[in-house]
Amino acid sequence: MDRFKKFLSLFLCLVPLFFIGCGRPPETQKSDRKKILCTIAQIGHLASEIGGDKVEVQILVRGELNPHSYELVKGDDEKIQRADLLLYNGLGLEHGASLAALLKVHPKAFAVGESIERQCCQKILWADGVKDPHIWMDVSLWAEGIDPIVGEVIAMDPENKDYYLERAATLKEKMMAVDKEIFDLVQSIPATQRYLVTSHDAFQYFAKRYLKESGEASWEMRFKAPEGLAPDGQLNPIDIQKVIDHLAEHQIRVVFPESNVSRDSIRKIVDAGKKMGLKIHISKEVLYGDSLKGNYLEAMLHNAHAITRSLLEANDGL
Ligand SMILES: [Zn+2]
Repeated sequence: MDRFKKFLSLFLCLVPLFFIGCGRPPETQKSDRKKILCTIAQIGHLASEIGGDKVEVQILVRGELNPHSYELVKGDDEKIQRADLLLYNGLGLEHGASLAALLKVHPKAFAVGESIERQCCQKILWADGVKDPHIWMDVSLWAEGIDPIVGEVIAMDPENKDYYLERAATLKEKMMAVDKEIFDLVQSIPATQRYLVTSHDAFQYFAKRYLKESGEASWEMRFKAPEGLAPDGQLNPIDIQKVIDHLAEHQIRVVFPESNVSRDSIRKIVDAGKKMGLKIHISKEVLYGDSLKGNYLEAMLHNAHAITRSLLEANDGL
């Protein structure tokens, strides 16, 4: 009798599990998912959107860490060894010695930025004699990375080719819609006020795509930053003076902090500008250049809204 009771209670426990199991859709089990490791979240967003529930995406340089100077830390080895695909930007972004050395020799590493350069080489910008790696700041150009990534993902997992191609097509449409939304929003700022000054040279692609006035020969005057392509806090007086002259020439009233860069350089500029009689302040809106708020497209839309709001408010009543 005792044995029957035990069997009955075990049976009653297992029956609900059986039905739960039957009702579950045939999705990929977590342990079966291919693992894609991305150096930065901007690449991670594309990989997640393309891979859906067939892949597991991990980001190496997380949060507010600086991708320009990131060095491998304890725990990274395991992520790298487990990865079926390692996506990085290239174009000189990941130049921390240990990470750069690994990317050079890793058999599963693929440079998204450099694949975009091969397709659209005239669109790659330069600063101080080196390539500008902040290519994601132009959403339409970053969308050129979808085809190369989907090619790599299909090579890693050919069985799910149609699934990845369909998701890639949807992502492309979404990115082109966001690109247009940002363009229309930023272009609503009068051209005489459409000048962006931030902490480091992360917004050149943004300036060329979204700030440039239609028919304008050059976009360079639309963007200025005291720190170079890789922020290091090392400012010289000539760089500071150049930015102050630029603020005065274009009657710029607001400069923007970036989320993962020290505000020291823009504070110095604003203090020096005020002493010279400029009406200038630091925006309360923070921009996302190297790091993200939310996902990549949300961060790009945040930047566009923050820039538009701040520039219009700063020039209100002029
Ligand atoms: Zn940067």
